[in-house]
Amino acid sequence: MLEGLNKIVHTDDTIVAIATPLGRSAIGLVRISGREALKVTKKFFQSPHALQHRRQVVGTWRDSSGDSLDEVVIAFSEAPHSYTGEDLVEIGAHGNPVILNRLLENVRACGVRLAAPGEFTLRAVANGKMDLIQAEAVRAFIEAQTEHQARTALRQMEGAGGKKIMPVKQQLVEVIAHLEAGIDFAEDDVEIPDGKQISDRIDLIICDLVALKDTFGYGRLLSEGLQLAILGKPNVGKSSLFNRLLLLDRAIVTDTPGTTRDVLTEALNLEGIPLRLMDTAGLRETSDEVERMGVGRSLEALAEADLALVVLDGSHLLDDDDERVLNRTSEIPHLLVVNKADLPQAIQFRTNGNRAIHVSARTGTGMEALRAEIKTFLLQRRTSPGDEFILTNQRQYETVTRSVGFLVTARAACHEGVPHEMVLLDLYSALSALNELTGEVVTEDILDRIFSTFCIGK
Ligand code: GDP
Repeated sequence: MLEGLNKIVHTDDTIVAIATPLGRSAIGLVRISGREALKVTKKFFQSPHALQHRRQVVGTWRDSSGDSLDEVVIAFSEAPHSYTGEDLVEIGAHGNPVILNRLLENVRACGVRLAAPGEFTLRAVANGKMDLIQAEAVRAFIEAQTEHQARTALRQMEGAGGKKIMPVKQQLVEVIAHLEAGIDFAEDDVEIPDGKQISDRIDLIICDLVALKDTFGYGRLLSEGLQLAILGKPNVGKSSLFNRLLLLDRAIVTDTPGTTRDVLTEALNLEGIPLRLMDTAGLRETSDEVERMGVGRSLEALAEADLALVVLDGSHLLDDDDERVLNRTSEIPHLLVVNKADLPQAIQFRTNGNRAIHVSARTGTGMEALRAEIKTFLLQRRTSPGDEFILTNQRQYETVTRSVGFLVTARAACHEGVPHEMVLLDLYSALSALNELTGEVVTEDILDRIFSTFCIGK
């Protein structure tokens, strides 16, 4: 078992869970992992064939009273060659919740404990079958809403993270070893490491880690989705545009200005990248209390947004309300959308270098160009070429950032001629952060955070 984890994760007992959703289905799967898995299974399972490693065996599951409960197929994987690294029994029964629960109760009555969420995967980590990044990827894969998200998670599941981090860690360990040798054998003939040379080597490691850290911009977009806020004064056609983008009538469209008073949010899939589209109340000066609250919420939505679609009405000249919207959004990433292209155009404005996209939410003209612009914006955020490993969650990002912080301090210390003992402290902290990333060093708190959101049975 991995050092550190054995203090936190207890794998002495055997665990069981129904791994498929509880509903009626063709097949339902029950998993048992641990030392007693095979022994317990044999109490209930009858078949002319013996259970063997990596063999599927058909037979009858008999209740504790000896009555047949179901015809099942059992796959047995012997430790350590299983998902969890322990003896693992997977019982494929018919997907009837009553039967599956009965089967579960049979097993539990033999002293097998009900598994906690993600506990099978946790055991896989504890038994060195996968690292923590891979375990996180298992969850991300199950939760992926687009194929693109799933592909990224799959790369992580296959161990792309560990492969990326390992050489960086190796370099860091070498620098540490070099410095340690210089200290330990200072009185012998060992060459004292040169500060400049050490700081250059630290610099290379920083470069690698900063490049990795930067992938999170895109990774976050991919896992959490791009927040897109539609902004503009009332009646320019924000709700109509929102509906057009969603291709469904979710937001309420009316002729009376100021009727979308809350922020409506919908999820949308733009070529594999999830978007969260927010339709906001019109931004304008108003004395109406309820409308003012709506405007307040729109501004909050704007603060959260990765990209704003600033909507103007092409059939009118700009007024003060439009100018205020343009001022508010000038500093954040935005696209200018000139709506109502189906009407005679009266608008005149300076785009300050931003390209304006002319659309008609009514007829659909220009919507493809708008989608293309949103996509271009997304791709600009993409810092890593297609198949590379990218950081996809806050925990991973925080550990890499922490590591970089310590390395930057260590590099500065080298420049300033600080004693190597002190530099080493920072280098060890940087290494420890990287170990946390892959799970060689973990705390109960981190494990709780990761595994509590898993499904039971995974
Ligand atoms: P919002 O207040 O900015 O959300 O605007 P709405 O989407 O509620 O639209 C306000 C009015 O403009 C409604 O009467 C819409 O039918 C109309 N409208 C919206 N988009 C267009 C468009 O592209 N062309 C025309 N002619 N009318 C539009």
